[in-house]
Amino acid sequence: MDRTSVWRKDTSIAKCKELDADLKTDTAIIGGGMAGILTAYLLKEEGINCVVLEEGRIGCGQTENTTAKVTSQHNCIYDTLIQERGQRIAKQYADANQSAIQQYRALIQKLNIHCDWSECDACLYTKEQAEILKREGRAAESLGIPTRFSEYTELPFPVSGALYFEGQARFHPLKFLQALSAEINVYENTKVIKLDGNLLLTNRGNIEAKKVIFASHYPFVNVPGYYFLKMHQERSYVIAVKGAGRVQNMYLGIDEDGLSVRPYEDMLFIGGGGHRTGENIKGGQYRRLYRAAQRYWDGCKMTACWSAQDCMTLDKVPYIGRYAQSKSHWYVATGFGKWGMTSSMVSAMILTDMICGRNNPWQEVFSPQRKKIKQMGALANEGGHAVRGLSGLKPEAAGELRCTHLGCRLTWNPEEESYDCPCHGSRFDKNGNKIDGPAQCGLGEKRRKK
Ligand SMILES: Cc1cc2nc3c(=O)[nH]c(=O)nc-3n(C[C@H](O)[C@H](O)[C@H](O)COP(=O)(O)OP(=O)(O)OC[C@H]3O[C@@H](n4cnc5c(N)ncnc54)[C@H](O)[C@@H]3O)c2cc1C
Repeated sequence: MDRTSVWRKDTSIAKCKELDADLKTDTAIIGGGMAGILTAYLLKEEGINCVVLEEGRIGCGQTENTTAKVTSQHNCIYDTLIQERGQRIAKQYADANQSAIQQYRALIQKLNIHCDWSECDACLYTKEQAEILKREGRAAESLGIPTRFSEYTELPFPVSGALYFEGQARFHPLKFLQALSAEINVYENTKVIKLDGNLLLTNRGNIEAKKVIFASHYPFVNVPGYYFLKMHQERSYVIAVKGAGRVQNMYLGIDEDGLSVRPYEDMLFIGGGGHRTGENIKGGQYRRLYRAAQRYWDGCKMTACWSAQDCMTLDKVPYIGRYAQSKSHWYVATGFGKWGMTSSMVSAMILTDMICGRNNPWQEVFSPQRKKIKQMGALANEGGHAVRGLSGLKPEAAGELRCTHLGCRLTWNPEEESYDCPCHGSRFDKNGNKIDGPAQCGLGEKRRKK
């Protein structure tokens, strides 16, 4: 079975032009995924001249492989946020994500976008940790998010607890991008290779921009910013099954074997099998998901499967704001932790306000420059991975493949036939071509067929 998502199979977005001359703009956005396109649209609404530079096609990064739940329910984040950063900061996170849902709703109505927008509840379930969900429910309520606790779901197995967030939604991400990208200025097949202050060097010409936004999923300029020290990537897998019956709501299990479930047309999308990128040396993720699906939804048939990865920050809160203190005209939107639909909208709203010189009420919680002592342990953990990845014999001597980002040792992922980097999550196909960043080029001379 090929690994194309249902979204990509049933939608084609009209080709955009490629850059064919040098140009000047107010704002250049690197990346035409959900974050880049939404930010470009909101900036355009403010009358700001901006261009999106996309190395492939619109939505071709992680966005085409999402499950597209539009929700402020980001696993069990609120109780932890209150404990670690206090009620005021946690409320910024809750308000930003609840507002993101409203902003999607308003935009879809305003532009009359047919993107299968469907409002429903988002539910966290557990077979064994009901107390955690009760606590999360109290935390979310204290921040103004309506929730309800129950012991029942539509799922075909018993749970000990289910926490419902009301007024959430789901949609078709590429139908949405298709409509929105018609409103803005996008250059496809235009890869940003290097930045020199205000100048962006691409494979097709140079762009002079007063402001630059990195919406490239993983920001690829290492210094300043140092995102490689404070982020890693995690992959997970999705199967689409038919013959499983229907559910109204969206689900996410918080236990180790918990599943992500959402309906689309006559299918259920079932997700799981998450792991740090580079740590799938045994494979078997799709097989395990399908086995779980067949156990719970007797007779269901898999009709599609795909996977994606996302950037995980040290404290599970995205980095949205200034790229680095020393770069006052560079901005970033990254680290969405597998919650990039609302996080992309939050990024678009915050960055638009910043670029327009307005204060945004949620800026502080997402600031990439936030300091936090408790993060030191996580930072050490990221550093440990990098040291392990970098250590060992010289690659030529060991016959190993090394990542073109920072030189970490790559591992073979048999499931997806790719070489993956456990340090920062870059991926390369079996011929050495780059699939995912932060690496910016393929394995070149070192390429080797499996
Ligand atoms: C399995 C899975 C399921 C998920 N489901 C959900 C969900 O249900 N709800 C939710 O909220 N989130 C979900 N997410 C997360 C969500 O899909 C992502 O956070 C989101 O799609 C990221 O969008 P983005 O625009 O930041 O990145 P991308 O979509 O990856 O866009 C970045 C773009 O930048 C381009 N680019 C990179 N480098 C350059 C360069 N040098 N020059 C030009 N262009 C460049 C890339 O080609 C790419 O198109 C899920 C994640 C996973 C892994």
